[in-house]
Amino acid sequence: MAMKRMVSPILGLAMLAVVLGGVHLFSKSRTTQLFGDIIPRVETPKPMVALTFDDGPSVRFTPEVLAILREHGIKATFFLTGKETEENLPQARMIVSDGHQVGNHSYTHSNMALMGSARIRDEIERTDAAIRTAGHKGEIMFRPPYGKKLLGLPWYL
Ligand SMILES: [Zn+2]
Repeated sequence: MAMKRMVSPILGLAMLAVVLGGVHLFSKSRTTQLFGDIIPRVETPKPMVALTFDDGPSVRFTPEVLAILREHGIKATFFLTGKETEENLPQARMIVSDGHQVGNHSYTHSNMALMGSARIRDEIERTDAAIRTAGHKGEIMFRPPYGKKLLGLPWYL
């Protein structure tokens, strides 16, 4: 017995493109994920802006940025990569000693949306260890590279 084809190949490809497009948009959502919480905003008694810096620390830019923040009495959040934190530990220590909030931005700054669980663990734990070596104590927030996450990353976090 032969089965009748239900969907034309072109319609099938169009449906696949719509599904993949939806997955792509969902993986970049700033407010929704399948496990755990995203903090897209916090309530404050008066209007405020949260200043965050991604990537680094770097020998070239971090001291200059820190000097400007110090001059204006501003505290910021620095989402650091583990590899650069290890390579530029004195600059990472300057961020911590100036009293800024420090977050984890992965070890290698790779897209983590489709990454396997062992690699996800490695990216996060190596970076947390580097951040602690820089002197940070307490909770470490995470910001995914390119804002990309899907299943494994939110689950691990
Ligand atoms: Zn980044």
